Amino acid sequence: MAAPSNEPRRIRHYFARHAGAFTAGLFLLIVTQALSLSVPRLLKGATDALVAMDLARTKETAGYLMLIAVLAALARIGSRIFIFNSGREVELDVRNDLFAKLESLPPSFYRKMPSGQLMSRAVNDLTQVRLLLGPGLLNLTNTALVYAVVVPLLFMKDAELAALTLMALPGLVISGQIFARRMYRYNRDAQEKLGELQNKVQENLGGIMTVRAYRREAAERAWFVRLNDAYVAVNLKLAKLRGVLFPLMGLFGAFGTIVLLYAGGARIIDGRLTVGDFVEFNAYIAALTWPTIALGWMLSLWQRGLASMDRINEIFTVEPSIADGPLSARPGAGNIEIRGLTFRYPDSGPETPPTLQDVTTEMRAGETVVIVGRTGSGKSTLLKAILRLLEVPPGTIFVDGRDITELELDALRGAISYAPQDAFLFSRSISENIAFGRPEASQAEIEGATESAGLAGDLSGFTDGLETMVGERGVTLSGGQRQRAALARALLVSSPILILDDTLAAVDTETERHILRALARHSQGRTTLLVTHRLACAELADRILVLDEGRIVEQGTEAELLALGGLYAEMHARQQLQESLERESPEALNAERGAEAVGVSS
Ligand code: ATP
Ligand code: MG
Repeated sequence: MAAPSNEPRRIRHYFARHAGAFTAGLFLLIVTQALSLSVPRLLKGATDALVAMDLARTKETAGYLMLIAVLAALARIGSRIFIFNSGREVELDVRNDLFAKLESLPPSFYRKMPSGQLMSRAVNDLTQVRLLLGPGLLNLTNTALVYAVVVPLLFMKDAELAALTLMALPGLVISGQIFARRMYRYNRDAQEKLGELQNKVQENLGGIMTVRAYRREAAERAWFVRLNDAYVAVNLKLAKLRGVLFPLMGLFGAFGTIVLLYAGGARIIDGRLTVGDFVEFNAYIAALTWPTIALGWMLSLWQRGLASMDRINEIFTVEPSIADGPLSARPGAGNIEIRGLTFRYPDSGPETPPTLQDVTTEMRAGETVVIVGRTGSGKSTLLKAILRLLEVPPGTIFVDGRDITELELDALRGAISYAPQDAFLFSRSISENIAFGRPEASQAEIEGATESAGLAGDLSGFTDGLETMVGERGVTLSGGQRQRAALARALLVSSPILILDDTLAAVDTETERHILRALARHSQGRTTLLVTHRLACAELADRILVLDEGRIVEQGTEAELLALGGLYAEMHARQQLQESLERESPEALNAERGAEAVGVSS
């Protein structure tokens, strides 16, 4: 079969985990076949007895046949249970391993493989693998057993007759090969098309508001129709192929019987064959028919299963480029040092300058550092680099004197509470979302974090308060509420380093004051990094870093930077002006805030 060379290895690995059950199933399968294949011989005896008018022996044989039928049925049921269950167990294992793998894949992987494709692999391809290891394996063994026993038997009985009746066999095997190869290709194609289709649906569900707002429904529908047509076209090709395959297999059974009647009949008349031999021969041919027909189906299962395992392996073999270092001790003090960090996103072109260029600075333990800069200047990138959410070069970032690439990810990230800029909430209750990093937190602690993050007031508007469900089965939080929920989530985890990425972007001045007061408390004794567009935060800062086009262009206290008269002073002046305008016409405030981040939209 046209199986790419490296897939079966991993299948074997999963197979080995359930070797006991598989072996039991295969053993029972052998028992089933041994019993079933003893039937033709008994039939021969009974027929010959019948021809000799020996009714007693015929009746006795009928009794045996009954017993064999019952035993074979029991063994068959047992073998199916063992093998099919093991197939399910393997499916379970692969799915668990796959999910674990997804959690460790590098960010570059997710950009290469859209989530619809991933979903398709996790669902459809896994089903194919299960079919391969359940029915596929069962039928393969079954067919192999029947052939191994029946073919030699037929040849021993009458080589010439056997050769005649089995003449179609080699042709069948070759055409099966050809079919299987084509089937493999079409199946891979079909799975890929289905992945694209799923991706399209998912993307449209996620972006439904955008699609509607821009009146792109018809265009999206047309796009979908195109993908759907392509998917169906491949499947039709598959169906056509299968449609030819099965009748061809059936023809083989009929061919054998016809030849037997023709050549075998002559032998009976010649006296070279008894009627019993004829019946036995025919029963063997009949025993070959189903396994041969099943062979076609099984070949396709086998091909499909291997194609799917191939696709699943593409995920398994991705090396996590952000891997654990050897050091497991969690940093305790929270001193961050960055030395000559230059970072370029892997898929940005070589002619674009790096997103971070030669960044060198130190955030001493317990210090509060506010990072400002124009949009796109690399602030979020710098924070992600410290968390090692990006693939940073070794020897550039040190926490408590240790290179972060030398640390276990768990130790590094365990020392940091982080609220990302694009706050993500899961479809759970608000309280579960806030306790995401510390599920064991008490109700009082959760409420405390909610209060500090300035979210408490919003919650009183929801009927279920903290227990309100978020997402598809509950309320949709506003952008600002989501950010504050993410802030509460970060505040609940008390670690030596606190990193907040622009969490005050969407709050009014009053809430901002409230949060800043709380932050002043929470940042006590911790290294705190605040990225912000709101210069009011500067009052918390021991030091301010100004980033521009990936470089630190200014750093110092607010007074020093104002005296310097550079970028910071310019941003500050602009924000002052804006605020005085807002005081005069409050409507301008909302319009401005809604449109852009204040003060740096140049
Ligand atoms: P903002 O104030 O708008 O949040 P920022 O200072 O946080 O901006 P970053 O998000 O760090 O800016 O982005 C810096 C630059 O890196 C931008 O030019 C952005 O387009 C680019 N960038 C960000 N993420 C990626 C990515 N995954 N792949 C390639 N380029 C990226
Ligand atoms: Mg940012």
